Amino acid sequence: SLRKVLVSACLLGKSVRYDGGSLRVHDQIIESWISEGRVVSVCPEVEAGMSIPRKPAEIFVGSGDSVLDGDTDVVEKGGNIVTDQFIKGASIALALCNKFNIEIAVLAESSPSCGSSFIYDGSFSGKRNPGMGVTAALLRRHGIQVFSQHEISDANKAIVMAQNI
Ligand code: SF4
Repeated sequence: SLRKVLVSACLLGKSVRYDGGSLRVHDQIIESWISEGRVVSVCPEVEAGMSIPRKPAEIFVGSGDSVLDGDTDVVEKGGNIVTDQFIKGASIALALCNKFNIEIAVLAESSPSCGSSFIYDGSFSGKRNPGMGVTAALLRRHGIQVFSQHEISDANKAIVMAQNI
């Protein structure tokens, strides 16, 4: 059957980011995926019930893995702890992957949910560290390959390989 791919809703142009904007990526591969019917869109934070717009949030220390292990929190600017919502959003994204037999995701880099190589460092000063967001960490724990919008051709190669198995 057709291999589907999970894609961050903001990369598809949906205005779901904390600031009410999107991060639309203009990319021929994504356009092809859409026309082939492969794309399943998700915004974990909105799925978890968070509003648009909402306060920016960062992982306090560590990364998405530390959040899943209960070792750290996701905190909004101003100090409100939103760890539970971020874990809920990640669980909803994982449930979508299970439902549609998805093994590959393209998620928005640097987000405390969707980041796959970098996240902000918890100081709300714009500084990034290597690490991943809560959704990326949960998907990877379940064997799903997570790419960013800067790695779309790699994601496409993975889909083509999976399609041929
Ligand atoms: Fe939603 Fe992820 Fe985009 Fe943030 S990066 S707006 S959580 S889809």
